[in-house]
Amino acid sequence: MQENGQSATDKLIEDSRAAAVQTLKAMVAIPSISPLSGGEGESKRADYLKSLLESFGFKVNRYDYNDGKAIRSNLVVKHGDFASTIWIIAHIDTVSPGDLSLWTHNPFEAYEEEGKIFGRGTSDNGQDVVAGIYALKAVRDSGMQNGYNFGLALVADEEIGSVYGIQKLMQEGIFGDNDLFLVPDAGSSDGNEIEIAEKGVLWLKFTTIGKQVHASTPGKGINAYKHAMHFLDGLEDFLYSKYNARDKLFNPDYSTFEVTKHEPNTDSTNIIPGIDVSYMDCRVLPNYRLDEILEDIAIKAREEEKTAEGLQIKTDIFNREDPAQPTSADSPIVQMLNRKVSEKLGVSPHTLGIGGGTCALFFRRKGFPAAVWSIDDDMAHQPNEYCNIQDMLNDAKVFASLFA
Ligand SMILES: [Zn+2]
Repeated sequence: MQENGQSATDKLIEDSRAAAVQTLKAMVAIPSISPLSGGEGESKRADYLKSLLESFGFKVNRYDYNDGKAIRSNLVVKHGDFASTIWIIAHIDTVSPGDLSLWTHNPFEAYEEEGKIFGRGTSDNGQDVVAGIYALKAVRDSGMQNGYNFGLALVADEEIGSVYGIQKLMQEGIFGDNDLFLVPDAGSSDGNEIEIAEKGVLWLKFTTIGKQVHASTPGKGINAYKHAMHFLDGLEDFLYSKYNARDKLFNPDYSTFEVTKHEPNTDSTNIIPGIDVSYMDCRVLPNYRLDEILEDIAIKAREEEKTAEGLQIKTDIFNREDPAQPTSADSPIVQMLNRKVSEKLGVSPHTLGIGGGTCALFFRRKGFPAAVWSIDDDMAHQPNEYCNIQDMLNDAKVFASLFA
């Protein structure tokens, strides 16, 4: 049923504009931050979203997990009676607001200005939580649904590793072997990017332990800073030259190994520091194994230790996401998205890889086809985060069109 190029679900979604805006504002007012970032978890926000979905007539399955500090809540709705399901996976947790002085308004009191809604979590990932809900409702209300069930999973804990979110849900046996997955959690502002691959992520902390002495008698001590610089400089060169494959899907198209943070050591110029703490961020193409990289790093650390009697270099991993094989550009979810995005938005999408990491990683690890797509102004984690109302509605139209 087409009318001026507008489908029945398009119209239903446009008609729900005021309700969708209201839902997003109500969500923002209920903080949903991990206890690891000083929050109370997702359960209050899940209460609100569950009762909203129930008021629309949907049966909602709730999966609560206790992380020892808070209840981490996930909501799942499945609509339709088909053999397989297309899942929209959006996360209901947010990062903390960060430095409050950088916000012009209270980050938990959403406000509207020039077609945008401002507030923490409006873009990441509120826009697509709301788009998912109103797309689901439009598909149900239109009475037209061909071929796939509409699955909506509103998940917890995405910002800190998805341990109490999608990783737990995957153990619940909710997802079928022939299901398809759309994770609307990254994209470009005109909607022309479909992400099908992510690099592996490794965050490392190096603690170099030497011996502190007066700077005038270096022979009596071990300069931890000097050894750390030597070690890290050599390590970067080694990693870049050994793991030097290129993959045009990604930008940049190679693995990166970058020394980043450095902790203060001594506050005096005349002290040889006995300890040095430095950090490295690695983004690794999917064809490499992180274990192999870690083994190489250990060998390099032992080599450096041999250059001074008593020198020690400790390596701690504090974030690790092993890369998964990319989703094929020929997989049905990517092909469908390609078609529907160009139909609805008039752009020609292309596939690409990003530096990591979304919920799609966990599906790809298990061999499920997952695509990441949304209309995204790249406001995630920023002060004065916003969502364009029209982008939210257009995301919903694309989601709904997958079932038409
Ligand atoms: Zn996100």
